Amino acid sequence: MRLFQEPKLLIASHNTGKIREIADMLGPLQIITTSAAALRLAEPDETGLTFKENAHLKAVACMKASGLPCLADDSGLVIPALDGQPGIYSARWAQTPEGNRDFSYAINRVAQEMADKEDLSAYFVCALSLVWPDGFEVSVEGKAYGHLTFPPRGRGGFGYDPIFIPEGYAITYAEMPAAQKQRISHRTCAIQNLMRACFGSHA
Ligand code: IMP
Repeated sequence: MRLFQEPKLLIASHNTGKIREIADMLGPLQIITTSAAALRLAEPDETGLTFKENAHLKAVACMKASGLPCLADDSGLVIPALDGQPGIYSARWAQTPEGNRDFSYAINRVAQEMADKEDLSAYFVCALSLVWPDGFEVSVEGKAYGHLTFPPRGRGGFGYDPIFIPEGYAITYAEMPAAQKQRISHRTCAIQNLMRACFGSHA
């Protein structure tokens, strides 16, 4: 493990929802954050077979392009009744035949695949990879368990939030205020693990 003592951190993502959530969580640490989207860095192909591998390759690609320490997230929704799908392909399930990214399309696809399933359990996974310019890397993971609900509910959050009800709640991620999702999400859990490992504190 290594303590993070750099003044600036690049969030290796083009997903505005993720960038906002990660930057908010790191806010109290007074680190200047920028993002792959803000620097218009190319998105590497996600050729890994696990969340951890994909987070690694995104962090390394951005670190090489920017020379900055980089934090990458690879995350997705795992549905046991669909043998773990969409999993690492969660973003790809939102690609429409016309080539756009549309999460109502992905949500409809999940709803159709789940139509004859009894087990509605699901969980989000977030793998984080923090890579320093010398190549040193710390990887952590967080999960949030819950179940799916159809039709989608709520207007907050992003991605699959409108169909995911976290354990112990009766509302979807998308129906919660952002701060409430942030207290319990898979990404928060992963960030807290990273804080313990590299920032000498709890988020
Ligand atoms: P990737 O990590 O960029 O490959 O994309 C992961 C995809 O998983 C996102 O585009 C979302 O569709 C989904 N996802 C990850 N985290 C969340 C979340 O907190 N809420 C809803 N969907 C999420």
